[in-house]
Amino acid sequence: MTELINSVINFFSQVYVTFLAVMSSFRFIDLIDILVVAFLIYKVIQFAKGTRTKQLIYGVLLFLLIWFISSIFEMKSLYTLLSSVLTQGVVALAVIFQPEIRTALELLSKSKFKVYKSDYSNEEIVNCIDSVCSACSDFQKDRVGALIVFEREVKLGDIVRSGVVVDSKAKPELISNIFYPNTPLHDGAMIIRNGRILAAGCILPLTSNINIHKSLGTRHRASLGMSENSDAIVVVVSEETGIISIAQGGVLKRNFNQSSLNDYLSDQLLDKDIEKTNGIISLLNKLKRGKKDEK
Ligand code: ATP
Ligand code: MG
Repeated sequence: MTELINSVINFFSQVYVTFLAVMSSFRFIDLIDILVVAFLIYKVIQFAKGTRTKQLIYGVLLFLLIWFISSIFEMKSLYTLLSSVLTQGVVALAVIFQPEIRTALELLSKSKFKVYKSDYSNEEIVNCIDSVCSACSDFQKDRVGALIVFEREVKLGDIVRSGVVVDSKAKPELISNIFYPNTPLHDGAMIIRNGRILAAGCILPLTSNINIHKSLGTRHRASLGMSENSDAIVVVVSEETGIISIAQGGVLKRNFNQSSLNDYLSDQLLDKDIEKTNGIISLLNKLKRGKKDEK
């Protein structure tokens, strides 16, 4: 018993000594270093949240933990085995994570940490959202299947190339026409860029998530796949049930109606800074008009 207490005291005194040694050589730059690493880890977790990347990251972290423990306790055979897996594993990880790495790098280079800001006027995007929501409400009533992708920072050029370029104003009639059964472009997805219909009949990547409910077919799996591989927001209308869903970040949100769909898309896609500026400008204009009226 006394031996155990002694070894515990020994352990804590060693920890204390090491702590003091570290603190005595601790520089301001080390603090910055730690903060940057913490920020990067936070960003990786935030990016991975809700996607299949999450499970992979947990797997990798568990692997690193076991590798670390085996090195501390000098478990030679386990350490050698895991070390050799680790060297090969870096290449394997780059291959497995390829879509996620690409998305993350594209986000990093395009956003400069200010993601989802559009260079385009909110007016065109507002009209587009209205058109999509009105068309989706009709699809819901008439049981017409639809798959609509709102591109954001990650450009979907390769997906656009799999379909037909339309490049047109987003009118509800055109959206309805495109998804009307047995028309040439009704199969596949519509891509919307900056409030305009860019392409239709596009093929999206299917999700590899195996935990999806069996009742969801390829249209819903394609919406999830697209949302896992980019920052796009994907609207799906089910041909079978008429349910309107949104896939974003690998998560499927269900049971939208015209108004809740409009609220969600507006919240996600409109540039709030522009809205604020427009709000201030219209307030100033009102004040100006008020002064003129007084005169
Ligand atoms: P619904 O509820 O509308 O039946 P679902 O999720 O059950 O949808 P399916 O019934 O398999 O899916 O829908 C098939 C349709 O989904 C295809 O005709 C096509 O229009 C679309 N689709 C399937 N896979 C893709 C894909 N990879 N990219 C784009 N569209 C796809
Ligand atoms: Mg189906």
